[in-house]
Amino acid sequence: MLTKTIEPDGFTFASVVTACARLGALNHAKWVHGLMIEKRIEVNYILSSALVDMYSRCGRIETAKEIFNTAQRTHVSVWNAMINGLALHGLALHAILVFSTMKVENVSPDSVTFIGILTACSHCGFVEEGRMYFNLMQREYSIQPQLEHYGAMVDLLARAGLLEEAYAMIKEMPMEPDVVIWRTLLSACRTHKNPELGEVAITRIKHLGSGDYVLLSNIYSSMKKWDSAETVRYTMKKKGVRKWSGKSWVELSGVIHQFRAADRYHPETEAIYKVLEVLIHRTRMQGYLSMPDLVFMDISEEEKEENLNYHSEKLALTYAILKSSPGTEIQISKNLRTCLDCHSWMKIVSQIDYMTNCGIRVIGGKLAIVSSKEGASNLLLEAYVHNQQEMGEAPLKDSSSRFKEIQSTDENGSFDRR
Ligand SMILES: [Zn+2]
Repeated sequence: MLTKTIEPDGFTFASVVTACARLGALNHAKWVHGLMIEKRIEVNYILSSALVDMYSRCGRIETAKEIFNTAQRTHVSVWNAMINGLALHGLALHAILVFSTMKVENVSPDSVTFIGILTACSHCGFVEEGRMYFNLMQREYSIQPQLEHYGAMVDLLARAGLLEEAYAMIKEMPMEPDVVIWRTLLSACRTHKNPELGEVAITRIKHLGSGDYVLLSNIYSSMKKWDSAETVRYTMKKKGVRKWSGKSWVELSGVIHQFRAADRYHPETEAIYKVLEVLIHRTRMQGYLSMPDLVFMDISEEEKEENLNYHSEKLALTYAILKSSPGTEIQISKNLRTCLDCHSWMKIVSQIDYMTNCGIRVIGGKLAIVSSKEGASNLLLEAYVHNQQEMGEAPLKDSSSRFKEIQSTDENGSFDRR
C-alpha cells in the first residue's frame, strides 16, 4: 500500500494496530505507531483503545498507560482496553483504581469492563473483590453475567483452591458451561490435587484433547496413583490420542530457533547444555526446587528431575541468554502452556546476581525476560571451569580466550524455520 503511494487512513491503522496486538510484535507496533504520528492521523476512541491494547499485549504497559492518560476517554472502550491490559499484566489494584476513576469521569462500565476486572482479580487472587464486582455488576449496573463472566469467576475461585465453590458456580450457570470452563476446573484440580472433581470435569468435556488426558494423568501422578495414571495413558493410546509435544522458539537476529524437550539437534547443543547446567545449579542456590511430581510417569525422582530440566523453554531461554547482548529483551514463545516448574525456574533465573534488572513477564503465551550485564559470558566461563574441575583439570588461566572459542564454534549453524 505504501509503495503504491495509497494513503492509509484511520481505519487502515486500526486494523494494522490490532494485527500487531495479536502478534505481540513490539517492533512492528512501534513502527506503525510512529507512522501514524508522521501521517498526522487523527486519534479517535477506536484508535486510542487499539493502541492501548497493542502496547499492553506487546509488554509495554507503561506506554499503554501514557496513551490512556492523554487520550479522550469519553468512550467506554478506551477504559476497557486499559483495564484489560492491566489485568493481563497482573496489576489488579491498578485495574481497580482505573475502574473507580470511570465513575468520577461519568463513564458507565459495560459487560466487557467487568470481564477485565474479574480477570484482574483472578490473576491476583483477589477472591473477595471478585465476588463483590460480580454482584455489583448485576445489582448496580443490571448487567446479566455471560459465559465469560462465569468463566472468570470459576477461574478466580478455582485458582484460589475453592474448588467446590467453583463447581457450585458452574452448576448454577443458566447457560451450558463451555469446554474452557471445564478445563479451568480440571487444571485447578491438578494444582490443588483433587482427582475426584478432576474426573467430574473430564466427563463433561465433549471432545477430549491430549492436554485433558495429560492433566488428569498428572493429577493421579502427583498423588502417586500410578495405576490410575497408567489407565489414562492406556486410554489415550487406545483412542489414538497423540500427545502434543511442547515446542519453544526464540527469535534472535531475525532467525527463529526452535527447541523441543531434551532436544540435542541444535548446532550449539554442547554450549547450551553446559550453560543450562550452571543456570540450574545457580537457581538451586537461590532457592529453586524442581517439581518432579509434574512428570507423568512412575520413574525415579532423579530421572524426573532430569526430565524437567530439559523442557523446551529452558533450552530456549538458555540459548537466548547465551547469544544475546546485555540488556536485550528475550521473548520466548511456546505452543503449549508453560509448566509450573519452568515458570518458577525462569522467575529465579531473572533474579540471578549477574542478570540484575531482569524483568519477567508472561504476555499472551509469551514469556519475556530481560537479560543484562555479562550474564552469558560469566555463565559459559563458569560452565567451562566447572567442567574442568569435574575432569580433575585445573581451570585455564585465561578462560576468556576459551570462552571466545566456545562462542564461535558455530556462527551460522542456526535453524531457520520461518
Ligand atoms: Zn516445563
